[in-house]
Amino acid sequence: MWRLLYNLFFPPRCAGCDRPLGKHERVLCHSCIDQLPFTEQGFKPDNQAAHLLTSKVTVYRATALMFYHKKHLSGELIHRLKYRGYRQISERLGELLAPEIQSDPPDIVIPVPLHPKKFKIRGYNQVEGFARIIARETRADYRSDILFKTVHTASQTRMTPLERWHNVLKTFSVRYDPELNGKHLLVTDDVLTTGATLSAAIKALQDAFPEARISVAVMALNDEYL
Ligand SMILES: [Zn+2]
Repeated sequence: MWRLLYNLFFPPRCAGCDRPLGKHERVLCHSCIDQLPFTEQGFKPDNQAAHLLTSKVTVYRATALMFYHKKHLSGELIHRLKYRGYRQISERLGELLAPEIQSDPPDIVIPVPLHPKKFKIRGYNQVEGFARIIARETRADYRSDILFKTVHTASQTRMTPLERWHNVLKTFSVRYDPELNGKHLLVTDDVLTTGATLSAAIKALQDAFPEARISVAVMALNDEYL
């Protein structure tokens, strides 16, 4: 009742364009979803996302929901999610990507963690909702107690790809759990750019669980470096 009244006076708005959402719209309006540059590259071992990573580590399959365009809606959504507190964008993007992953569902979904210092500043891990929804929709376990960020990396935006790679290597640690050995692990992150962060995370997981198959799902693929 109160919820209905509240929504009557403050209708939920689209996280992309701020217009009031329609009855059958959640978080993003249909018009914003139609504008998103979906990659439509599937959950495969040989698409652009996979190629970015396989030069550094072995991945079983990879997928990216959309292309990251800094000055357009996809970039704006990532910005609002990371810096403006629009946490619900994370879950909505997970809902949009989950059907893609049904073709070869994982056993475990692992979000790329934030360093505790960064977590404290932001108050949330922007990848969590995305990872949780994908886990729920593919009937996998969500595990945020496996992969940890141990070194606080400085902002990488001014570094070359090689500098980024050296900067992030060995910044992750893994808590060993024998249950994960031989399983299909899906590592999730927000934006895949050079692949340095994700490769370092995958490397740490591979060292700990050599029998596991490791796949990747990201919200957005930044193809600037491809
Ligand atoms: Zn909209």
